[in-house]
Amino acid sequence: SLGITWTTDWIRRTAEVIGEHRVELITLDREIGDGDHGENLDRGFTAVLAKLDGLSPEAAPGDALKLVATTLISTVGGASGPLFGTAYLKAAGAVGQANELDGSAVVALLTAARDGIVLRGKAEVGDKTMVDAWTPAVDAAAAAQEAGRSEAEILDAAATAAAEGAAATEPLVARKGRASYLGERAVGHRDPGAQSTALILRAAADAAR
Ligand code: ADP
Ligand code: MG
Ligand code: MG
Repeated sequence: SLGITWTTDWIRRTAEVIGEHRVELITLDREIGDGDHGENLDRGFTAVLAKLDGLSPEAAPGDALKLVATTLISTVGGASGPLFGTAYLKAAGAVGQANELDGSAVVALLTAARDGIVLRGKAEVGDKTMVDAWTPAVDAAAAAQEAGRSEAEILDAAATAAAEGAAATEPLVARKGRASYLGERAVGHRDPGAQSTALILRAAADAAR
């Protein structure tokens, strides 16, 4: 099972990978948005890192997820700040005060995160948003869990599906967010929030290996 060590490792790896892909995310958002997605998330996760060391040694995974939520909500802004903030908040709620997360808890965490994003942003699969990465990730995680896979395998399945989902946003016209103002001009460009979601979920899988 996965505990606080996995959770904090996931968060640190996320901050690292978002920093590494900052320019790529900026470029994607410049093509179909306002060019700030990489900057927004890098600022948010840098602020999270600064607070992570202050987490109590007895903290549960849910406490760490809640710290991410409140920090992203107060530092990221734009569309993605409240969306990712809600995702981590709902994920924290789903795992409660459990110290160890088994496969079904991992699926519950991911499902709650996705449901929070959908509740907040009202996007459906195919609208060319981060939901296009989150929903296939949740489905793949649930299938892996039902097939009796380990937590690491569940997260790997989620990360792979999220990356495929992000790539699959390229041919789409956007129906939510700034890219929706572009109509057909958004076709041929990958959604930045779907791409950052794939990075975040790959970090989760890497932390579980
Ligand atoms: P902003 O568009 O305010 O500059 P960001 O650039 O940080 O915010 O984030 C843009 C991303 O937010 C998009 O690529 C998309 O994935 C996501 N997004 C925007 N609106 C929605 C929505 N209603 N539901 C889900 N995701 C959304
Ligand atoms: Mg933007
Ligand atoms: Mg913006």
